[in-house]
Amino acid sequence: MTKIAVIRCETVSEVCPGTGCFKAFNNRTVQFKDYGQQTEMIGFFTCGGCSGRRVYRLAKKLKTNGADKVHISSCMLTKKYPSCPNIDSIKISIEAAGLDVVEGTHH
Ligand code: SF4
Repeated sequence: MTKIAVIRCETVSEVCPGTGCFKAFNNRTVQFKDYGQQTEMIGFFTCGGCSGRRVYRLAKKLKTNGADKVHISSCMLTKKYPSCPNIDSIKISIEAAGLDVVEGTHH
């Protein structure tokens, strides 16, 4: 069984409850379209604010709990919000914890 998580922007989380990400996952659309119904989302977390201080610690915990992949939320990638200046180091931190990175959620 595949286990996934989503990381999103701490700043954007002030105005977004994550509905778009969950809707896409629950309906298996956009970046979640290739997952079967057995796939579980076991984590949904923010970076902890610039520069992503929380990422490695939580990614390690997700790995311990059996996660395979972390999706980078669309808010961190879209032009709708200011670009994340730490996106590269955030990806490196996730991979260093032993997880695959997938770009995007509902866009
Ligand atoms: S590091 Fe990137 S994702 Fe995290 S708060 Fe800053 S801009 Fe948002």
